[in-house]
Amino acid sequence: MADNHEAMDVDADRRAPQRSVSVPFQPPRDLTVGYVYSSEMTSHFNPRGHQEAPERITRIWQAIVDERYNTKMQWLPIRPVTKAEALLVHSQTTWDLIEAYQYMSEQQIVDSEAYYEQLSLYVMPGTTRAARLSCGGVIEACLAVARGRLRKVFAICRPPGHHAEPDQSMGFCFFNNVAVATRVVQELTPIKRILILDWDVHHGNGTQRTFNDDPSVLYISLHRYEGGNFYPCGEFGGMTSCGEGSGLGFSVNIPWPEKGMGDPDYIHAFQRIVMPIAMEFAPELVIISAGFDAALGDELGECKVSPAGYAHMTHMLSGLAGGRLVVALEGGYNLNATMNSALAVTKVILGEAPDPLPPMHASETATETVYLVAKEQSKYWKNIDANSCEPREEVESISFSIPEVLQAHRAHYLYKNYKMMQVPLLGFLQNPFAGQVICTPDLFENKTLVVLAHEFGNLRLELESAMTCDLNLERSYLLDFTKELMRWINGEGYALLDVNLYPKPFTSVSQNSKRLSNKKNLERYDDTTALLTYLWDNYIHLSGAKKVVFIGHGPACQPLMNLIDARFNSINRYVKAVVQVVGFAKVPVTPKKDEFRSWYAKCSCVLLSANHHILRPEALHSIKKHGVLCPIEELQPVRIVMKGLPAIQAFIKAQLEKPI
Ligand SMILES: [Zn+2]
Repeated sequence: MADNHEAMDVDADRRAPQRSVSVPFQPPRDLTVGYVYSSEMTSHFNPRGHQEAPERITRIWQAIVDERYNTKMQWLPIRPVTKAEALLVHSQTTWDLIEAYQYMSEQQIVDSEAYYEQLSLYVMPGTTRAARLSCGGVIEACLAVARGRLRKVFAICRPPGHHAEPDQSMGFCFFNNVAVATRVVQELTPIKRILILDWDVHHGNGTQRTFNDDPSVLYISLHRYEGGNFYPCGEFGGMTSCGEGSGLGFSVNIPWPEKGMGDPDYIHAFQRIVMPIAMEFAPELVIISAGFDAALGDELGECKVSPAGYAHMTHMLSGLAGGRLVVALEGGYNLNATMNSALAVTKVILGEAPDPLPPMHASETATETVYLVAKEQSKYWKNIDANSCEPREEVESISFSIPEVLQAHRAHYLYKNYKMMQVPLLGFLQNPFAGQVICTPDLFENKTLVVLAHEFGNLRLELESAMTCDLNLERSYLLDFTKELMRWINGEGYALLDVNLYPKPFTSVSQNSKRLSNKKNLERYDDTTALLTYLWDNYIHLSGAKKVVFIGHGPACQPLMNLIDARFNSINRYVKAVVQVVGFAKVPVTPKKDEFRSWYAKCSCVLLSANHHILRPEALHSIKKHGVLCPIEELQPVRIVMKGLPAIQAFIKAQLEKPI
């Protein structure tokens, strides 16, 4: 067999190309960008036609010549991979097998066809030469950049390589071109830390396998995965497949769960995962496994990446490793899409700016995938902040800022006029409710404490029960009510604990919360009850107050009842009045157990809309569980509480004056 005695001397500078290659134009040697190409790699082809066809590279080459980009790029001579180089990654058996293809007879080709088909391969005598040149071409490209001869090189080579495993050629790939080139660079140059970014639509199983336990090579792949059902199939390309041994954390898979991903999705993944990890890794050389089968129009990949999308990704990667970048062709089966994408990438490595992309938003699928990958990778990379990748729902992001402003405004007023201070929260309550519990400074001295639980600032609540909502009006109602309430509490000499139960959007107490909308209410229910119980145990119960008043407003009524259920044995001793303010749509609630209910009926007052359906004669039985009923000619809770304040005051005063 040939090349048995070939040594590791692979210095291309001293080696002439082994066969003549047509070079249309040879530009001056002071260029910093180069290319590798040879029409000899067309010697591998399937006479009956195949997607992995010679035209994939001849069309790219022709387009580069047509655009005269070849006059701006240094031609690098190509040569076949040596056995010693190939064995840095592949087994002797794999090498022997690929060498043997060149001697195959017609009959042997026919006889072995079915075997190779199940490996997604076709073979012929020309395969050996093309496979060795393709691998040698990528090696030459990488060595030229690693040695500083050129800044960037495009290796227009086929057959592709990233599916080829150390022991197994497969998936149109014979040698793993990029993996072998990476090992050769590490052997022959001072460059050791290498990033391989694989944007081919398929997972580069061969490449990840080669470096799975090696922390010197960071492998990042974006690919169609579909739960392990898309080629090359299985869980190796899944997001939890992050390497092993000392290489743990140095394999990063961004597996798309479905077809159809496009520029916004890829750019989002680059901004949130690829670039932060790449910056932290700080590679000395970047190699792109540049398959163009995620391009719009590729029937195999069925994704939608545009030439401008590829250009932007190249541009982002160009800034790493001092600009040392190799682009190595992998897949790409729509000839036009592959050609246009390759041209766009070539333009960028030649220093041109990428074409602008329109304003865009990543799809829900991509955002979710990137979030899950961020959670996984945040175990290994400081630069990955999973929280910042958490998907945000449109509705929430709109209603987020206004309540925040309202709450801040109200808190400022209460601090300025009544020196009300934030109550510190511990642990899991901190995130959703920080800054939302405030109290008067006499919380621990006053004998009478009013606890006001509400969701002020939750404008969705107000919008639910009214067709229109005037923000300014809501704001003034809220502040007017706050002023009135405080004037009264201050005048009576009570302490106040003010609890805003409206959790900050996008936070949840439960660690593994799923953002399924039908689960959402349940989670919030738990969060708010947990906060009230925490406050009862740590503040209200310990405050020294002998008389406690509960006022629940709107959605805060339910968690207040949950608290009564949870702490009834101390609550029934101290709580003298329970006031609920409900609007038009919500039904007032009661504690769950009968014995709690009889206590509740003696000390409760419900303010509700005069039009509320439970005030109709046929529903009257359901209101017997409540104490005093106070109908108000308004619909929204915030207006009801405003109008009903005198009634609330009178009720509370009467309750507090009852003999103990
Ligand atoms: Zn592919």
